[in-house]
Amino acid sequence: MDILIPPHTRERYGDELDLDAITESDRKLKMAWQILNDETCKQCGNPIWICRSTNNNIGFNVDSTTCYAQEAIDTYKKNNPGVDSGTAKTFFAKPFTYVDGTTLPSRQDYMELQARSVEE
Ligand SMILES: [Zn+2]
Repeated sequence: MDILIPPHTRERYGDELDLDAITESDRKLKMAWQILNDETCKQCGNPIWICRSTNNNIGFNVDSTTCYAQEAIDTYKKNNPGVDSGTAKTFFAKPFTYVDGTTLPSRQDYMELQARSVEE
């Protein structure tokens, strides 16, 4: 199995990552990550056994959500004409909270919110 080393991991551990130090758990995590990637549709993000199924009982409703980070980038580019003049430049959005002393929501917070919206 190919072991892919993400750039941030390479930064942390150096170019000479000790492949012998990779444990069985690491290999299983890598395998799980690969399976998840392989089974997630690159076009729509749904599991491929759903979005590519020929089962006539499966349909799709279209909904939308807003990425406020991308919206901030779009607004920044619109308000700063000429800043987007090179293909080498990448813009990214860094989240913050407006109220001092508060933190960004955690994944747990998100999961609880999702669970509550399903219950309602
Ligand atoms: Zn799909």
